[in-house]
Amino acid sequence: MSNFTKFRKYILTLIAITILSLLASGCSSITARGSELSPDNLQVHFISVGQGDSELIKLPTGENVLIDAGDTDCDEYLVNYIKAQGVEEIDTVIATHPHSDHIGSMQDILENFKVNKIMMPDFDYDTVTYTNLLYSIEENNVERIVAKYGDSFDEGAAHFEILGPVKQYEDANNISLVVMMTYGQTKYLFTGDQEVEAEKDLLSMGYNLNADVLKVGHHGSDTSSSQEFLNAVRPSIAVIEVGEGNKYNLPKDEIIMRIARGGTTVFRTDQSGNIVISSDGEELYVATDDTLENIFDPEKILGIEEGTSSEQSASSSEAPQYEFIGNKNSKVFHADDCGQLPNEENRVYFSTQQEAEDAGYRPHSGCVE
Ligand SMILES: [Zn+2]
Ligand SMILES: [Zn+2]
Repeated sequence: MSNFTKFRKYILTLIAITILSLLASGCSSITARGSELSPDNLQVHFISVGQGDSELIKLPTGENVLIDAGDTDCDEYLVNYIKAQGVEEIDTVIATHPHSDHIGSMQDILENFKVNKIMMPDFDYDTVTYTNLLYSIEENNVERIVAKYGDSFDEGAAHFEILGPVKQYEDANNISLVVMMTYGQTKYLFTGDQEVEAEKDLLSMGYNLNADVLKVGHHGSDTSSSQEFLNAVRPSIAVIEVGEGNKYNLPKDEIIMRIARGGTTVFRTDQSGNIVISSDGEELYVATDDTLENIFDPEKILGIEEGTSSEQSASSSEAPQYEFIGNKNSKVFHADDCGQLPNEENRVYFSTQQEAEDAGYRPHSGCVE
């Protein structure tokens, strides 16, 4: 795509963002749902799963693709989010690599949606989460495809190409499947947790890596996003999927600066929540939880009626002794104001962090220091 078209698109994106901001702040009676989230457009949802990656691609013709499925503690949130988008069937699930912040809730996806096929890199990995996923793939009769660079497939009018990994690596991040999606004139590059070494090898293949949207590698870590790689991609929009207050201190400031210096607008799920980029194949629109109502309202989806909100706050003020809430199933505990609390029936309450840890629960990286 020419630089001029790219620039034009960038400006349009900015205008779209500005209009959305004005709508959101100015007049709440106008829904900002306009054409940008029209069912006639492609939608790429960067789902706010905390520290981890998950991207849902919805085609206007009804096909769905899911790249990664967050960590084990976002299972309910992720399933409910995807259901809230009207999705019942997922044509292709892509597991970029077997780290738990990418495949943690993938088993829940296979159990809650009709999944036709799952693509994974060629890699042996010995963890309970990954092994359970492999069993679940068989149990749910999902076709398992070991993807290699050069593979490609279509879903609706979107074309997907597997660009990497172009070598075998020992490091699990570097074997991340690198996916380029083309929809009309627009391109989207998803790189999983690919690090600099794999970026270099990708560059040496002579691919055209130019894309309008980049899912930034490895949650904005400085192990990824080399200047050479960014120079080749030259995205208008970059999205970093990262948990608020995560213990790894991601994303790194120098990486955000490096990306932004190239004229790229950077969005982060820890700051904006869910981020949806939609397109008619020519222009890009960005919507986030801040700028757009009803992308996903967890309270509504989890069955809390709007009218009962006063009851809710009354009961929580009567029980101030519980500062931490654990999930019986995942053994992860959250601060009571975390956006990803487990369903009521799975909750265990703790007054202190120590009490939770003594009970064998581990802190949720997104909300507990
Ligand atoms: Zn990761
Ligand atoms: Zn990883």
